[in-house]
Amino acid sequence: MYLPNSYKESKIWSTIDIEQIEDANFGITLKNQLHINYEALIDKWIEFNKNRGCAFVLGSFAKKYPNIIKKIASNNIEIASHSLTHTLVYKLSFKKWAQEIEYSKKLIEDITSKEVKGYRSPSWSLPFEKRYYEMLIEKGYLFSSSYFPFKTYMYGNEIDRKKPFEIYTQNGIITEIPIPKNIIAFSGGFYTRVLPYFVIYMLTKRLLKNGFKPILYIHPYELIDQPLIKYFSNSVKKDMAYFLSFVRLGNTRKKIIRLLRDFQT
Ligand SMILES: [Zn+2]
Repeated sequence: MYLPNSYKESKIWSTIDIEQIEDANFGITLKNQLHINYEALIDKWIEFNKNRGCAFVLGSFAKKYPNIIKKIASNNIEIASHSLTHTLVYKLSFKKWAQEIEYSKKLIEDITSKEVKGYRSPSWSLPFEKRYYEMLIEKGYLFSSSYFPFKTYMYGNEIDRKKPFEIYTQNGIITEIPIPKNIIAFSGGFYTRVLPYFVIYMLTKRLLKNGFKPILYIHPYELIDQPLIKYFSNSVKKDMAYFLSFVRLGNTRKKIIRLLRDFQT
């Protein structure tokens, strides 16, 4: 089975989905005068993921910040594709989606001069249908990490498997590396933001004890170490999407660094 080195060689697979906060499908609008320094945030992530880890990069982000992507690659971190525009897969025609995965791969490869082998669908929105995997193989992908263990109103696909598995298609074989849960999902996004550290620690430990590899997935804006409420316009603050996406955003960085320190070294 093909597995990326960053997965094989780590106790916890540390991944980051590199996109701007506005890309996250929640209809977020930022106050104009505020600016997020993505380079500084990603530098932080690089610091504790050098020579390991995997960055799923959105094509539009790579186009805007090619030097950040070059820097990640030069620190021996695997770069994979997180699609081109972060449009949910089921909202794109199949043809358009195929163009997105092809174009984003080429765009990132041109920047890093390294082959892109992996794909993660925006917001876990890849339908579990063979034709998508056939197309990923046709476009040169060797693995995907696009499944979440349960479904929410917007994302998730209920592929509740704890280990990577192979998908056989007429174009060949591809590996899918789903996010494993342990009773609940805990290792990224909303869950890492709201759960206290000792719960995340305990669930990680239990997953490892049972022979499964936890997968951490974060976003650059979760590495901001201060409350982010000031970044959002009032209409967003009232919104449920705001709560789901950005509650306790400012306290995530410490938990992630601690988790990697406790388990990865
Ligand atoms: Zn994303």
